[in-house]
Amino acid sequence: MKRILVTGGAGFIGSHLCGRLLKEGNDVICLDNYFTGSKRNIAHLLDNPYFELVRHDVTAPYFAEVDQIYNLACPASPIHYQFNPIKTTKTSVMGAINMLGLAKRVKAKILQASTSEVYGDPEIHPQTENYWGNVNPIGIRSCYDEGKRCAETLFMDYHNQNNVDIKIVRIFNTYGPHMHPNDGRVVSNFIVQCLKGEDITIFGDGSQTRSFQYVDDLLEGMSRMMISRDGFVGPVNIGNPNEFTILELAKKIIELTNSNSKIINQPLPKDDPTQRQPNINLAKKELNNWEPKVQLHEGLIKTISYFEDLLSNTKW
Ligand code: NAD
Ligand code: UDP
Repeated sequence: MKRILVTGGAGFIGSHLCGRLLKEGNDVICLDNYFTGSKRNIAHLLDNPYFELVRHDVTAPYFAEVDQIYNLACPASPIHYQFNPIKTTKTSVMGAINMLGLAKRVKAKILQASTSEVYGDPEIHPQTENYWGNVNPIGIRSCYDEGKRCAETLFMDYHNQNNVDIKIVRIFNTYGPHMHPNDGRVVSNFIVQCLKGEDITIFGDGSQTRSFQYVDDLLEGMSRMMISRDGFVGPVNIGNPNEFTILELAKKIIELTNSNSKIINQPLPKDDPTQRQPNINLAKKELNNWEPKVQLHEGLIKTISYFEDLLSNTKW
């Protein structure tokens, strides 16, 4: 049994990760400030004697004796990370410093949840890990993109300078149950709009692309990365290479929810990347042939069913 700290553990991905780590027989500390996460996401874990929930902000130091750390704390949806952009940068940068300091002191292995956003609006397609990216350093997405880029820098420097055992994954758009209904990301927005019979808001003409990964595939990739061979630190792309336009996604969700919702077009936000698709050759090679298993159709059905329950049981 390992003692594992999950920062951002009450969020969408973190809550699934806590559940998986407990099932594997670990002792889990879930740390969160509840900015975008919620106790509802981890309520089913609270009775487990090996689960501990701590309200804490990663911009402040945290002390605990742990074997592994998954550093996920950071709002991930544009509307949330743009709400207080200074705080977003602080969360990524100071959070990384505090968690790396902890890892250094207790000699824990630490995995950073980085992002495809480090590639910005990419000029090469699909994106490989050796591409340095095309990020606007002073735009509305910069607090997130540059915060995550600086966190990667800190991870590499703590590794090279202090021998901290690090792993970096670059996560591409991931969806699934436990996304917040007002999260603002495209999959949850479209599903909630369809289920409520509201207009579906496509930003721009819907020709921009994303590659959508179901959360279970991500967790498998992250856990294989945590136990990958010594000396392999990443960064490694973890995403589903099947690429869809946002218009295709909207049509698919309308069909699966059997909805009468109409598509409307709204202005494209500034610096919105036009295309995104991971090259996952490195993950396949280093992570024991890891590749996504859940197709969009199947993942959307599970996610729609989650939101149907949520919307019928609570007053969202
Ligand atoms: P989320 O917003 O649901 O979860 C983030 C969690 O971090 C929330 O529970 C939030 O309350 C917590 N948090 C935020 N600031 C904090 C702080 N200062 N101190 C402590 N806790 C704090 O988002 P998610 O989709 O679950 O993303 C989890 C991680 O994965 C993030 O680091 C995100 O950048 C990364 N990621 C996610 C995606 C995706 O598509 N979901 C893609 C790339 C990277
Ligand atoms: N998007 C959209 N309608 C929405 C929410 C998002 O058309 O209601 C678009 C958004 O402009 C972007 C894509 O969907 O092009 C993915 O957006 P999301 O916020 O989910 O992720 P990110 O842009 O960070 O990849």
